Amino acid sequence: MKKITNYINGSMIEPSSGNYFENIDPSTGKAYSLIPDSDADDIDIAVQAAQKAFPEWSGMSLEKRSKYIVQLSEGIEKRMDEFVKAESLDNGKPVSLAAQVDIPRAISNFHFFATAILHFASESHSMEGVGINYTTRKPIGVVGCISPWNLPLYLFSWKIAPALASGNCVIAKPSEVTPYTAYLLSEVAQEIGLPPGVLNIVHGTGGSAGDAIVKHPLIKAISFTGGTETGAYISRTAGPMFKKLSLELGGKNPNIIFADCDFEEMLTTTVRSSFANQGQICLCGSRIFIERPIYEKFKTAFVEKVSRMKNLAPSDPNSKQGAVVSKGHMEKVLSYVDLAKEEGGTILTGGKRVILPEPNNEGFFIEPTVIEGLKYDCRTNQEEIFGPVVTIMPFDSEEEVLMMANSTQYGLSTTVWTSNLKRAHRIADQVHAGIVWVNSWLVRDLRTPFGGVKASGVGREGGWEALKFFTEPKNIFIKQ
Ligand code: NDP
Repeated sequence: MKKITNYINGSMIEPSSGNYFENIDPSTGKAYSLIPDSDADDIDIAVQAAQKAFPEWSGMSLEKRSKYIVQLSEGIEKRMDEFVKAESLDNGKPVSLAAQVDIPRAISNFHFFATAILHFASESHSMEGVGINYTTRKPIGVVGCISPWNLPLYLFSWKIAPALASGNCVIAKPSEVTPYTAYLLSEVAQEIGLPPGVLNIVHGTGGSAGDAIVKHPLIKAISFTGGTETGAYISRTAGPMFKKLSLELGGKNPNIIFADCDFEEMLTTTVRSSFANQGQICLCGSRIFIERPIYEKFKTAFVEKVSRMKNLAPSDPNSKQGAVVSKGHMEKVLSYVDLAKEEGGTILTGGKRVILPEPNNEGFFIEPTVIEGLKYDCRTNQEEIFGPVVTIMPFDSEEEVLMMANSTQYGLSTTVWTSNLKRAHRIADQVHAGIVWVNSWLVRDLRTPFGGVKASGVGREGGWEALKFFTEPKNIFIKQ
């Protein structure tokens, strides 16, 4: 079986313990590669290498540094097919999704930040008759990037690219559940001759390799995307060490649909915003609120469309619904369907595991599921499920829907469907979210701030926000 290796100090190396664990293909339930079970020793070796590489990398001309990062982007693009297949195999997502979204976006992430850094500028503040302040922004040093399994290379590169572009050396850990494209990225880094120690990719579990990143005293900043509980743990642990933290956490996003929307456009997009990547995108809308006059019309049309969506093997080019990422996650999602029934919900479509023909008969497939009849404040409507499960609820007024939408601990994104511009502004202004889409979903401009409020996170990624996070400002005053 193929053994993935760590990428430390420019070399592909085994974990110091010599231990590996299995990497499971979610579409068959079978192991297909082995992942290094790295620990604090491996992280320490990587940090030493990164410390050594930092003076040269941070002191390099912007043009030269930018060129390396463009080459990372081009290196992925050259091996596009291989990356696409690997992402689909590792995660269970349809190969078409990996080809249209995940890998193109990873390519863009590197390209975007390689060029953004050339335009990044710091401020000056003139005090008339007194003097002038100017601010410099220097890289922090060695930084940690920890990412989840749902959009593996997409989110991994979203952190690594700005960290490297702004002159830091990186210790990065992908999710143990989806490490393969991060491994391929380390091959690309070798191919392009990225200086040793600048980027170090260490594989392993969150509790071991991840925790060692959080606790290492020489790692000065951590950019983390993952669950809210893990984020809270990282805050508790790294906060007292005065590390800079960027936390992108869970969500329970509302999708607010008014009767005056463009119904067909809303319907098509709502199917996507509910079930893309089997509902495992932090921006998926999982609570759908529909204004009462169109509730029955929406319910009939939506359920009809969703019940026609079939789970197929992720490698099938016609697949639009693949497998969820792991057995444990499948069981968690299905337990929420049981909870919804206990809480009085009615399953309108879906709700069950799907058994496909061999070789996918042990894969982790769940029918896209729509539930109605639940109160907005029950557990099913308050806790993050992160799978192909949505609830639908009617509402009668803006006040009521805002109260329900804002009732969870989360505040990542919101989608609003209406043709009333004033209302769109009112809802966007008052909803608890870091990102609002009006009459659309998941339209992304990499320059915009990305992140959530409340338990959905602290700080913002994207554009200047990311470059500011990965640099330390210093203000210098000169008397006139
Ligand atoms: P987890 O929090 O379980 O894991 C995220 C990453 O953290 C993984 O690499 C994991 O490693 C690692 N990790 C786990 N425990 C620790 C620890 N104690 N110290 C350091 N690192 C640790 O999240 P999931 O991977 O399950 O991802 C799903 C979650 O991510 C959902 O809640 C989703 O909403 C959120 N998410 C948020 C986004 C946003 O932008 N706000 C975007 C995408 C997802 P390992 O996997 O090896 O255990």
